[in-house]
Amino acid sequence: MKDIHQETEFFSNDTAITGQGLINSNVATPIREDAFAVSNEEKKSRIAVLFKEIMEVIGLDLSDDSLRGTPQRVAKMYIEEIFSGLDPANKPASTLFLNTYSYNQMLIEKNITLYSYCEHHFVPIMGKVHVAYISSGKVIGLSKLNRIVQYFGRRPQVQERLTNQIGAELSSVLETDDIAVIIEAKHLCVCSRGVADDASSTTTVYYGGRLSAADKIAELHNYLFR
Ligand SMILES: [Zn+2]
Repeated sequence: MKDIHQETEFFSNDTAITGQGLINSNVATPIREDAFAVSNEEKKSRIAVLFKEIMEVIGLDLSDDSLRGTPQRVAKMYIEEIFSGLDPANKPASTLFLNTYSYNQMLIEKNITLYSYCEHHFVPIMGKVHVAYISSGKVIGLSKLNRIVQYFGRRPQVQERLTNQIGAELSSVLETDDIAVIIEAKHLCVCSRGVADDASSTTTVYYGGRLSAADKIAELHNYLFR
C-alpha cells in the first residue's frame, strides 16, 4: 500500500483524484528523479558547504563563535526536520480500523498546527488545518490525521498544492472521496517582507465527494467557524 502511494504521489500525472478542489490531476511536488540517489548524510554535508558560502557572500564572519556552527545546523534542520516530508520514507504509515461504531456522519479534526515553507522564498507558512471525512467503512487513528498534515507541510510548498496533497492522501488512505481540507495560514513572505501585511491570511479548501455538497459544506463551516 505504502509503495503504491509513493508512486502515485511522485511520478504519476494521472492520479485518480476526484476532489472538487483539484483543477488538474497532478498534485505532486516537482521533484528530481535522482532526489534520493544520495544519502541524507551526503545531502547534509553538501548543504552545509553551500549554506556557508551564502553566509560568507552576504558578508558574515564564520570565525565568530555564534555563526560557526550555523551551516551544519541548517543542513541538519533541512534534511531531518523542515524538509523531511520530501522523502517518501518519512510518510506516516496509516493503519485503518473497521468502523464498528455505526458512525456515518462527518468526523472533523480541527486546528491541526501547520508549519510549512514557502517554496518561493523559503520562509515559514504557519497556520491551522481542519480536515473532515465521512467513513467508507474504515477509520483512521486521529493522530494520523495530524501526522499526514505534518508530513506534507515539511516540504517547500505553495498552500494550494499542500491543500490538494493532504486531500488526495486522505482520500487514498481512507478509501473515500468524502474528504474536506481547509487551511488558514499566514505566509511570512507576505507578513514580514514585500508588501509587509501582517494582518492578512490565506484560506484554501478541498471539498470532495459528499463533502462538496452545499449543505455539507455549510454544516462543516458551522462546526468550524460558528
Ligand atoms: Zn513566499
